[in-house]
Parts: sequence; C-alpha cells; structure tokens
Amino acid sequence: MKRNTRQREAVRAALAERTGFVSAQALHAALRDAGSTIGLATVYRALTDLTDGGEADTLTQDGEALYRACTPGNHHHHLICRRCGTAVEIEAQPVEEWARRTAAEHGFTAAEHIVDIFGLCAVCSDLADRASRP
Ligand SMILES: [Zn+2]
Ligand SMILES: [Zn+2]
Repeated sequence: MKRNTRQREAVRAALAERTGFVSAQALHAALRDAGSTIGLATVYRALTDLTDGGEADTLTQDGEALYRACTPGNHHHHLICRRCGTAVEIEAQPVEEWARRTAAEHGFTAAEHIVDIFGLCAVCSDLADRASRP
C-alpha cells in the first residue's frame, strides 16, 4: 500500500513536470529513464486515480488517452494544441454566464460544463505557416 502511494506520487510529480498532454507510455518511459522501476499498469492506475480526483485532465487523441496535470478545485478551461499537446489553463467568464443562463432557461440545476478549445499553438501555427510557403 505504501509502495503504491509512493509510486502514485512519482507519477503525479512526473506529470506536473510536463507542460502539455502526455501518454501513459511516454510518462512511463520518462519515469524508467529517471531510474524508476514502476510498471506501465501502475502508471495507468495512478493516472486514472489522478483524473478521478480532478488532479489530471485527460483527452483522447487518435484513439490514445493523453493526460496532463491540472489545478484541482479551481474551475477553468483549456486551450489545447492539436499538434504538440501544449495546454494552457484559461478563464472564460462569458462561458460561465452563458452556461448558467442556458441551464436555468431549461430548468436545469446543479449544471456543470466542460469547454476546451482545440487548435494550433503559436509555435505550431508558425511551423505550419512556414511549411506551406514555397
Ligand atoms: Zn503546438
Ligand atoms: Zn467554465
């Protein structure tokens, strides 16, 4: 049990070091490179725990689950780069107001929402722009 907690902490720390979304395999490889003997199944389990606890975000890209450390207990939205996985936490006040109003108009209470924006970050936009030039 103690061992599991320690390994979960290692996964949490490794995830926090990344700036963008990362796959369980990539995180596992990084932990092994750093000398950890952690197994891939344990990494998956820890990532699932962190996601369930609101400490990590997850999204599926090309059929693969990607994870990212997330600020818990603080509602926010994300800008996510489709190419490199860079994610930025953003506030979206108009979205909060729209969601509250729309839910109320339909008689919904205790409404929640998940709104993320996917696109190409500045670096990837620049690269794409350069690639398209003759
Ligand atoms: Zn990018
Ligand atoms: Zn919101």
